[in-house]
Amino acid sequence: MLGFFFGGALLAAGTGPAKVSAQAFTTTRLADGFDYPVGKPDGDGYYIFRGFSPNGHLGEDWNGSGGGDTDEGDPVYSIAHGVVVFSEDYKRGWGNVVIIRHAYRENNGQIAFIDSLYGHLKVRSVQLGQQVTRGQVVGTIGCGPYRMYAAHLHFEIRKDLRVGMRRELYPRSYQTYHVPKQFTDARRSLRFEDRLVRVPINTFLKTNPNRIETDEVELPELTSTEAAPQTVRPEVPPAVEMVIEEETQTEAATPEKSKSFLELLREKLANPQ
Ligand SMILES: [Zn+2]
Repeated sequence: MLGFFFGGALLAAGTGPAKVSAQAFTTTRLADGFDYPVGKPDGDGYYIFRGFSPNGHLGEDWNGSGGGDTDEGDPVYSIAHGVVVFSEDYKRGWGNVVIIRHAYRENNGQIAFIDSLYGHLKVRSVQLGQQVTRGQVVGTIGCGPYRMYAAHLHFEIRKDLRVGMRRELYPRSYQTYHVPKQFTDARRSLRFEDRLVRVPINTFLKTNPNRIETDEVELPELTSTEAAPQTVRPEVPPAVEMVIEEETQTEAATPEKSKSFLELLREKLANPQ
């Protein structure tokens, strides 16, 4: 039904133990243009509270013009036709996240791909592998996990299809990301082509560090029968919100940082100075 198939494996049939890439593909409709993710289709009633900055905020924060949490529960729309490649509660500083992969034709005639990411959602209304159309509701505006933020949509557009939820592994720059509004404004209306195109899938690393940590920790038995107290977060000014969001993003990985203690020790022993 979803039409998943393995391109590399098909090519290798009958050729013995050839080296094949296990890249999986699906098909999706070529985008006929891109809209804003809120206030369908032009962003009416919403504004960018906080923009994109390389090495800083890697997307845009969209807020309703009513202020505060007045936009909580408002619909969030897929910016174009595409296929859902991620839909999970990722927790950490993210909460509910939907990522949609889009295929479109660039000015030079080439088919290109991007991922659009919708974060801090109150609810997600699409599933992994689902085909979505331009303007389809993918979820609603939320406040993130434990109501960490004033309600807003965190929105990203990625050129690099490998990023997924592992932003720390890839350059936090224009090499990896588009400036969402700039990308959208330049492609509001693309030539209509009623066709399906092949799109790579399963390009994200599978590991969710969040999950590994929680799986490996044994939790003590709860002895209290009283209900857990509600987490109530005080109102904080926008500047504080920004710091919270920045601080909840994972640190950039460098080859040095990712080395284990034993690896570093072995190196030290091999090169004693
Ligand atoms: Zn944000």
